[in-house]
Amino acid sequence: MKYTKQDIIRMADEEDVEFIRLQFTDMFGTLKNVAITRSQLEKALNNQCMFDGSSIEGFVRIEESDMYLYPDLDTFTIFPWRPQQGKVARIICDVYCADGTPFEGDPRYVLRKEITRAAKMGYTFDVGPECEFFLFHTDDNGQPTTVSHEKAGYFDLGPVDLGENARRDMVLTLEDMGFEIEASHHEVAPAQHEIDFRYDEALATADKIMTFKLAVKTIAKRHGLFASFMPKPKYGINGSGMHINMSLSQNGKNIFDDPSGELGLSKEAYYFIGGIMKHMKGMSAITNPLVNSYKRLVPGYEAPIYIAWSATNRSPLIRIPASRGAGTRVELRCPDPAANPYLALAVCLAAGLDGIENKIMPPEEVRENVFEMRLSRKAEKGIESLPGDLMEAIEEFEHDDYIKGVLGPHITEKYAEAKKAEWADYRAQVTQWEIDEYLYKI
Ligand code: GLN
Ligand code: MG
Ligand code: MG
Ligand code: MG
Repeated sequence: MKYTKQDIIRMADEEDVEFIRLQFTDMFGTLKNVAITRSQLEKALNNQCMFDGSSIEGFVRIEESDMYLYPDLDTFTIFPWRPQQGKVARIICDVYCADGTPFEGDPRYVLRKEITRAAKMGYTFDVGPECEFFLFHTDDNGQPTTVSHEKAGYFDLGPVDLGENARRDMVLTLEDMGFEIEASHHEVAPAQHEIDFRYDEALATADKIMTFKLAVKTIAKRHGLFASFMPKPKYGINGSGMHINMSLSQNGKNIFDDPSGELGLSKEAYYFIGGIMKHMKGMSAITNPLVNSYKRLVPGYEAPIYIAWSATNRSPLIRIPASRGAGTRVELRCPDPAANPYLALAVCLAAGLDGIENKIMPPEEVRENVFEMRLSRKAEKGIESLPGDLMEAIEEFEHDDYIKGVLGPHITEKYAEAKKAEWADYRAQVTQWEIDEYLYKI
């Protein structure tokens, strides 16, 4: 969608929009917004909307706290779940400093920089995510729980699938907001769902992931349910991933596709995989950002652990889905929906471009199920593992100068600091597992 300021003012008036939410995302992937009324719209569209950056986690110090929101006009969308009179719309914004330079702590800026770099090489980065989530009950105080009475599994349908009505409502709402929904289904675990929307250029996809989560949570609430994107809300059942399907195109042609290449893939596709594999440990703290993220990455739940790729089976980190031609793509299976989508897509693109620029060939494809491979065989094949926990991921991140360069010094420093604090707090907890396991026998 290409809108001008006049288009937006006209749409706002024609549709009786009363409130406009100016949205942006902080570095930890939390959506933020400030609401303005119709009377302030012209001012906002002229990039004159200021806010106090010092109150946003990971942003700036008090002394330099005046920040500006520059609306990205193309993201104007009316919320379909709001009243029909005095409607509410949103515009996603870029964050700028008072001196008119882009703010280095704005994740959208980090992704824009990588997209520009790809564009200089002649590439467009297309991404399609597969977002999984749970629908849980709330308690008597309205607080979310991890309880569900549902027993459905993969591809099941109603009446066992208790989330079916909510999910249908989510799909229709997302379509009202301009999403093209390709599929939606019950996932493997009870109360777990997946809704897939069509791939788009990376910045639009990252914006859509943020919008998707907001819409899903909003509609779930209307059905008396709580939608959670927590990577592993329950022990013993599948967690929620956000697989990302990536391709590069040049002049409208998918350059990963090459009918004469091995497996129908181009050299660039192999190099892209090579780059991702090279940087995977260093970027895990971005693609899997929580203490909890690493509880999903354990054997037995369809989530990856080993840094390997395959065109034939799903157990490795990177899979090449069967479709070729325009649908040729690389699927990365470790990211989870807690990741900041702007930063996650930025590091994936950067890692892939590093592979292309430096012709990094990935190791051989793994055809066996990596989970069933003996340790010695894995060692022989040089198959490494993803970081085992958040602290290991932060250490790997701090050792990868290339990935740190992609994020820039501001985000690198604040992000590592915050994640270390998160780990330190977690490490000091005494968990129920420890009480159950040790109290009685020691
Ligand atoms: N839920 C699994 C994960 O954690 C994926 C299951 C699937 O989509 N086949 O990644
Ligand atoms: Mg899927
Ligand atoms: Mg799935
Ligand atoms: Mg998938």
